[in-house]
Amino acid sequence: MNIILLGPPGAGKGTQAKKIQEYYSLPHISTGDILRENINNNTGLGIKAKSYMSRGELVPDELLITLIKDRLSKKDCDEGFMLDGYPRTIPQADALQMILTESGKKIDAVLNISVDDNELIKRLSGRRMCKCGASFHVLFNSPEKEDVCDACKGKLYQREDDKPEAISNRLNVYKKQTQPLIDYYDKKKILRTIDGSKDISQIFEEIKKVLEEYDKKDTK
Ligand code: ADP
Ligand code: ADP
Ligand code: ZN
Repeated sequence: MNIILLGPPGAGKGTQAKKIQEYYSLPHISTGDILRENINNNTGLGIKAKSYMSRGELVPDELLITLIKDRLSKKDCDEGFMLDGYPRTIPQADALQMILTESGKKIDAVLNISVDDNELIKRLSGRRMCKCGASFHVLFNSPEKEDVCDACKGKLYQREDDKPEAISNRLNVYKKQTQPLIDYYDKKKILRTIDGSKDISQIFEEIKKVLEEYDKKDTK
């Protein structure tokens, strides 16, 4: 099963991805996590991506396309994968389709997690991240111990781009550059919209219901 998690910043893509990864053993490919890791390690890609990310702008398509092509060619993607944060533009979606066609693969479903702007702002401004990719919220999803990751015991931090100026820019960038993908995948008849305003566990139940269909097809 090959799936995409689509949705604005703060919709809960990463949170649900961790649950899907555990339940379906699908590799979770988060382009945001990969880019942040490159920034921490001071790689060439990290150096190029840093200023775009801290402003809340998108990193140029050609960098992301190379990154994703590389990642999808790894062995752990043979039996399925889950993309979180890619594609974010139509050219990225077109490139993905070409990459997959070359290896005889396709996307089975695009889960579009929908949440209104007011809720997104609350979620992003209270988000606390861990280096392992886990995310928490100071009010809505607090860790057992303050500022400590439940999963790996790492120290939680606030992302530079979760500060107010970058948040409003990111929501605008989403509307202009990423939202058109909803129509793009709807036309391909693989879009499934999920109400992302509910509780984390309720949303996961809804996602499981949707994915059950594809999971059955896979194991036939
Ligand atoms: P995304 O990956 O889409 O940007 P995250 O999964 O990081 O979003 O979630 C953004 C913030 O909202 C985090 O602080 C997370 O703990 C919190 N969150 C995620 N899902 C929900 C939910 N259903 N209700 C309330 N808060 C949520
Ligand atoms: P969120 O889930 O909060 O939207 P991500 O962690 O997915 O944030 O992404 C953080 C930042 O990394 C984005 O604002 C953007 O600068 C960069 N980024 C991640 N994925 C992509 C992509 N597919 N194309 C361009 N930039 C990206
Ligand atoms: Zn952690």
